[in-house]
Formats: sequence, structure tokens, C-alpha cells
Amino acid sequence: MSERSILKEDFLKRVKIIVGSRFTDDPRILKVYSRDFWPLLTLRESRGDELAMPLAVAWPKTVEEVTSLIKLCNEFKIPFTPYGGGSGVTGAAPCRDCLVIDVKAMNKIIELNEEDMYVTVESGIMIKKLEEYLNSKGYTIRHIPQSFPEAVVGGLIATLSTGEYSTKYGGIEDLLLDIEVVTADGGFIPLREKIVPRTSTGPNIKKLMLGSEGQLGVITKATLKIFQIPEYTSKNTFVFNSFEEALAAAREVMLLGLQPAVLRIYDKDEAALRFNEDRDLAIFIIEEWSKALLDAKESELRMVMKKRGALEIGEEYVDSWLKKRFDVISDVVKLVVPLGLWFDTIETAATWSILPKVYREFKREVKMIKGVNSVLAHASHFYSTGGCIYFTIVFEANEEVYWRVWEKAMDTLIKNGATISHHHGIGLLRKKWIERELGESLKYLKKIKRLFDPNNISNPGKFMEWESSEA
Ligand SMILES: Cc1cc2nc3c(=O)[nH]c(=O)nc-3n(C[C@H](O)[C@H](O)[C@H](O)COP(=O)(O)OP(=O)(O)OC[C@H]3O[C@@H](n4cnc5c(N)ncnc54)[C@H](O)[C@@H]3O)c2cc1C
Repeated sequence: MSERSILKEDFLKRVKIIVGSRFTDDPRILKVYSRDFWPLLTLRESRGDELAMPLAVAWPKTVEEVTSLIKLCNEFKIPFTPYGGGSGVTGAAPCRDCLVIDVKAMNKIIELNEEDMYVTVESGIMIKKLEEYLNSKGYTIRHIPQSFPEAVVGGLIATLSTGEYSTKYGGIEDLLLDIEVVTADGGFIPLREKIVPRTSTGPNIKKLMLGSEGQLGVITKATLKIFQIPEYTSKNTFVFNSFEEALAAAREVMLLGLQPAVLRIYDKDEAALRFNEDRDLAIFIIEEWSKALLDAKESELRMVMKKRGALEIGEEYVDSWLKKRFDVISDVVKLVVPLGLWFDTIETAATWSILPKVYREFKREVKMIKGVNSVLAHASHFYSTGGCIYFTIVFEANEEVYWRVWEKAMDTLIKNGATISHHHGIGLLRKKWIERELGESLKYLKKIKRLFDPNNISNPGKFMEWESSEA
């Protein structure tokens, strides 16, 4: 037996001492952890290609077990990767020869504070389970990503995610009050003793975990804001003369402070697929805790739409979106695979002044690529300063076309001043473009990683990985 194999065996024995039977190195289970939902990995898997396999999976139940696992990884210089729901779409979680630290056994609700309106949970709780629990008590977290059935709280924080109701309630960064972390060097950053609504006590090191994608350590607990379930809801759909005209209306809605919970603008290509309706349209959900406020917002919304020449067509499409919203990807797969096609989604954000140009140029440039079948778009997640556009690209199922699409897409976004990701994150997929996006700050992120992770073992090969020459 080689020295390396003896070392691995020793390591795995010690992992088993820490977590007991909550461990596996069964290749059939490791295969599940060799990918997330990155469409390139699922394409490769569908062809029977070998994916990068982890070494083993451990399911710790306590912060002490996570700490012991990370200390062990440092001792043996064996990499580890935190793993949540595995619903990431960028290849952020898979990691060759790593110990997978799957946090899903750490799934307790620690405290629901109904007076101060927050909940503290272990990071492995599924967002759906948490929402169901809160709903049973009359509350909601209102963080409902399309991956609601799969994602867990730690993964949502680590990828800087947004939910479908973010236009009113914000992204995960707006909901997060506090966090507990086992750092990549085996250190520990606990929760505050008492939660505070805000603090001005220097840079908040814990916020570095937002978007860290498993590269700084493992998030073990989080405290998140909660809301009472809104009592009053109104739903409506408006048809526009163009996608750009709908974006202009969205700007007006946001500047008036109407803050719909959901505002989604579909271009006619995507509307045709989703609603069988060949027109640019926008669906709205307004929700409030006071009927008077809801009525006032609804009537203001109608005025803006009328002024913009939009045609009101009622609730039907909102209801159909609510019904189908978690099945969208499987619906696309069913449509494209039998035709020898594949797909990916690319989400971006830009300010109002450039959003229409980003939409037009992205569609034009990507559609021209040989092998691309169609480019659909919707805009969702709005701010006073701009919004997010989410493109779905359907193309011939081969890797060459895949990378041509991504090269052109990233280049178009960067040249136009849009971000390369609004909420899916970086993973292996966008690593190539992260320097163009972040510039000098990437250098400092790598220095921070070196501080947290002196052995470079926390989810290696991803965008914050440092070289000795860089630090
Ligand atoms: C159908 C579908 C719809 C989606 N819709 C949305 C959407 O609406 N909005 C959105 O934002 N995203 C969406 N996504 C992307 C994805 O679900 C999110 O990025 C989600 O946040 C990932 O959570 P997860 O628990 O599955 O994380 P994983 O995929 O398990 O991990 C993602 C990254 O986080 C790290 N990580 C996981 N847990 C921890 C932890 N405890 N500590 C430190 N690092 C950790 C991993 O190492 C990895 O780098 C969608 C994905 C799919 C497949």
C-alpha cells in the first residue's frame, strides 16, 4: 500500500471516530455528491462521463463534530467541502478527493423569537421545512428561491441567494441578522449573545460568509428575520408593447415605493413558453398587512400601468406561475432533451440606464452563436436602482457550444457594465471571469482566504483559492 493510501485510510478511520455511522465512502453515494445542478455536470453525467468524486461524506450533528472534522482535515492536509442541498447551478460544491461535510443533519430550529421577530436555526435546515414551521406559527421568512424544495439555509447564505419575493423583502443579505461559523483553520466564530437590529462596531467579519461558497469554513447556525404572514394580497398581469416599456414601468413602480412582493416581466419568447402568450407581459403580487395600504398601492399601480399604455388582463397568469414555479427547470428539460438540445440559465443585474441595452445585446449576441436554438428572458428582483434579468438559453447538447455561449454571454455583460451573476454565484463555472468582475478586490479576498484557511483546503479549486506567490 502506498504512503498516500495509508494516510487516507488513517484519515477515514479518524473521521469515523468523530461521526460514527454518519459517514460513507460508498461509491454509489459519492456519485450523488460528485455534482450539483450545474447543467454542464448534468449533461456530462447523462452521457456517462466520470465526474470528480469526493473521498467520503460525513454528516456531523454538532458544531463540535464540525470543528473536529475541520481540524482533522488540517492535520492531514486533506481538503473538505461544505455541502447543503446540492442545488447550486455553478459547480460550487463538488470537489475531487475532498471530505464532504454535509450539514443536513444539523437541522434544528433553536429559537423562534416572536417579539423580536427572528428565528435562529442550524444551517442544515431545508428552507422549505423552516418556512412550513414558521407558517404553522403565523410567520414567514419570505425567502422562496425557485430551488425551495432542495436548498438549505447554509447553502443559501454561502451563495448570496435571492428569493422570488425579494423585491419587497430583500435578498438573503437583508434577512440575515447573525451567523455562527467554524472557520477553515478549525477556529470558531459564535453567534452574538443577544441579537441586535443593527450595529456600528466595525466591519462585520461574519458577513464575509455571504457568497463565500464554502471557501472560508462552514456556517453552522444563522439568525434570520421573520415576518407575519401578510393578510392581504392582490395579483394582476399587464401586457406591454415591449419588454423595454415594461422595464420603464417597473422603474416607476419602484421609485413610487410600491414595492410589490413579486414583479416578473417576461419577454414574448419566454411568455410564449410559460403562458402560451406571445406578448411581453408583467405579473405582480402586492402583499400587505393593512387593507388600506394594499388598496392604495393597487390603485397607484393601475395608474402607472394605464399611463404606460399597458393592458390589464387579471390574475390568471399569476396563478399559473404560482402553481408551476418550482417545476420550471424540469419542464424545460422535458421539452429540450428529446430534441437533442440542452440549456443553461444566466442571471445578471444592471442599473436602469443600461438594463434595456443589456437585454437587447445579450439576446442578439447569444442568438447569433452557431448551435443556439433560442434565448428567453424575464426580469425579476427589482431595486430602486435597477433590476435582474434572467436568460434561459437553449442550444445543441455539446460542450463546444456550451462554452461559446458562456464566453459571449460573460463578455457582453462585462462590456455593458452588468454583473456576471445576480444570485447564482461563481462556482467552477464563472471562475474564469471573476477577475474581470472583481478587479483588485479579488486580491484582498484571496488574502482573507489565506487568513481563514492557511492550508488552502476549504473547497479548493474555486475562485478565492490563493497561490503562495499571490499572498
Ligand atoms: C431549480 C433551481 C432553481 C434555483 N433558483 C434559485 C433562486 O431562485 N434563487 C437563488 O438565489 N438561487 C437559485 N438556485 C441556485 C441554488 O439553489 C442556490 O444557489 C442555493 O443557494 C444553493 O443552496 P444549497 O443548499 O443547495 O447549496 P449547495 O449547492 O449544497 O452549495 C452551494 C455552495 O455553498 C456552499 N455551502 C453549502 N452549505 C454551506 C455551509 N453550511 N457553510 C459554508 N458553505 C456552504 C457549498 O460549498 C457550495 O459552494 C436554483 C437552483 C436550481 C437547481
